Amino acid sequence: MPVSDSVTRPDSDTDGDSLPINELFASLQGEGKLAGVPSTFVRTSGCNLRCWFCDSYHTSWEPTHAWMGVDEIVAEVDALAPEHVVVTGGEPLVHQETATLLSELADDYHLTVETNGTLETDAPIDLASISPKLASSTPTPENAPADTDPGVWTDKHESARIDLDALASLVDHADDFQLKFVVTGRDDLPEIESLVEDVRGVTAREVRDSDVLLMPEGQTREALAKTRTDVAELAAEFGYRYTPRLHVDLWNDAPET
Ligand code: SF4
Repeated sequence: MPVSDSVTRPDSDTDGDSLPINELFASLQGEGKLAGVPSTFVRTSGCNLRCWFCDSYHTSWEPTHAWMGVDEIVAEVDALAPEHVVVTGGEPLVHQETATLLSELADDYHLTVETNGTLETDAPIDLASISPKLASSTPTPENAPADTDPGVWTDKHESARIDLDALASLVDHADDFQLKFVVTGRDDLPEIESLVEDVRGVTAREVRDSDVLLMPEGQTREALAKTRTDVAELAAEFGYRYTPRLHVDLWNDAPET
């Protein structure tokens, strides 16, 4: 299946206000400052990056999305009557209509946006869950998923994965934020420390160590079991916060969790 970083708008979207939605479901937030909080998830398709460990491959790489109008999405969210809504992906900010959706939801719900931090927005956000991608995320001939061409994506991903201006803009714009790093091991920590200092140097707002979250890499319980203790110990050693992946612990890699 070809890898694409964009999705093709269908002819039926005559108003141009639809979003490619892969999943819309109620569950518990699995990661970050709000881990464990009941939330409704709106998961868009499409991403501008291609991390080798992506746990949303069915979102980012496989065109399994259904196009839904913003009003239709809002109606489905309303029907689930959540307090918290998480707009995630893929990379939700690759779509202009995501800003419209966030504006429509903002009066009624706490909004978390999960983003890779490479794109700016002026849409209302209560919690920007920003996950900058480290060098260890870059696909290589050895680790690239079968449908990711490293000849194309190694350089493309590497050149796009960090945008300091976009990171600073998201940190300064949202009501609250977290910098959430997927950690594969100790070798990631120098890059995390360097990037956190870089962000501190360009933001108007304080970036506390407790705003920096280390999350173990692992898409399945088996994979997570190999990384989480080491990552928790790294968080304690460096003074950052550890975040679990509750949805993997509870439901493994099942969809709509
Ligand atoms: S940025 Fe997120 S959605 Fe995009 S490829 Fe990486 S892990 Fe997957």
